[in-house]
Amino acid sequence: MRQPARSPLSRWSHRHWLLAGLLVFLTALVATIVPGLAKATRKPPAQTGLATVELPLPAPAALPAPDARAAEEWLPVTVEAGQTLGGVFEELELPASLMYEALDVPGMREPLVRLRAGAVLEFQLGGKDGLRALRFERDEASRVELRRQEGRFVARVIERPLERRVMTASGEITSSLYAAGHRAGLGDAVIHQMANAFSYDIDFTQDLRVGDSFKVIYEEIWRDGERLRSGGVVAASFTNRGKEFTAVRWERNGKMEYFDLEGRPLKKSFMRMPIEFARISSRFNPRRKHPVLGTVRAHKGVDYAAATGTPIMAAGDGRVSFAGWQNGYGRTVIIDHGKGVTTLYAHMSRLGKHKVGQRVQQGSIIGYVGATGLASGPHLHYEFRVNGVHRDPLTVTMPKPDPLTGAELAAFRAATAPAVAQLKRVGGVQLASR
Ligand SMILES: [Zn+2]
Repeated sequence: MRQPARSPLSRWSHRHWLLAGLLVFLTALVATIVPGLAKATRKPPAQTGLATVELPLPAPAALPAPDARAAEEWLPVTVEAGQTLGGVFEELELPASLMYEALDVPGMREPLVRLRAGAVLEFQLGGKDGLRALRFERDEASRVELRRQEGRFVARVIERPLERRVMTASGEITSSLYAAGHRAGLGDAVIHQMANAFSYDIDFTQDLRVGDSFKVIYEEIWRDGERLRSGGVVAASFTNRGKEFTAVRWERNGKMEYFDLEGRPLKKSFMRMPIEFARISSRFNPRRKHPVLGTVRAHKGVDYAAATGTPIMAAGDGRVSFAGWQNGYGRTVIIDHGKGVTTLYAHMSRLGKHKVGQRVQQGSIIGYVGATGLASGPHLHYEFRVNGVHRDPLTVTMPKPDPLTGAELAAFRAATAPAVAQLKRVGGVQLASR
């Protein structure tokens, strides 16, 4: 993260850098104009490049005084992790009273207090109060400028309308999904989202084959003629080993989800593995010899060997019913998923942020791999219980998530029909000519 100006000294060096930059720019400008002049006056125009070297640099005195220029200059300050707005004002040696005045401008308190690490505040320093103006991005679609006028802040909101562009792409797998996606002009965010949507049906590390193909309709968010970010995948289809899967985006209960054409969620109630980059080191086994105790004891879960600190995810949506230390299990989290299903995650080096009673979403990080309790090395011990009975998480029939039905299914079909029709047309020409 960049350092904001810490003292008047560093602010001065900031201005000096700008001066130096301006000199370099002027030199470059002279360098590009002068060869042309040399050509016109000298013949033959040999070694025109040399002419630029001998030219005197413009004297710094010819430039506007730093103070006059500083008045127009915006000093950007990036908010650091853990830094408050007060901290930013303090670093710039601006009185706290100015900050309180800014917070009291109607509509400003909430966006200013909400500014997070990485957000940029820009200041025009100087003037009677030490501050001429302050500006920041209130949200994606607007920027606010607070300018001192007669001893008070006057706010100006500059709206920056967002534009949603619908894009289409298609491709065929020759090596990896990412390679094919990049060839089709897709960014990593879109490829990742497409892979995620299909990840419950297709194991992209093992099932992918050369000749598999995809079609995707996605959005891009543009602002002021510039691409701001991906707007996500609207619909996609993926043909894996001759079988076609379709994903259509639809908002249910305020959450974006992907459904198949019949309105069944692609996302299953539980992930196959609550951890990435891990291998199974011990399976569910009612008669296993315990690696630490040496006695025959049922192994009532699956062990995933992984490096200490590897994130552990909630296998499904639910509520944290335990987070703490348990004998043998070490640092442990238990999640209650409702309908009699609980999952347990043991031997953590560190617990996640969730407290007992808090809701967690499938995939959110609830802790980190470790070797606490009775463990021979760092691994996740994962248990799946149905009505209190241990089941093998690798073979248990997972409860199915609710499909869309009735009026909601009808609304889903009507709203997504254009995208589904468009999806069928994507890449159609190429397919016909092949
Ligand atoms: Zn285990």
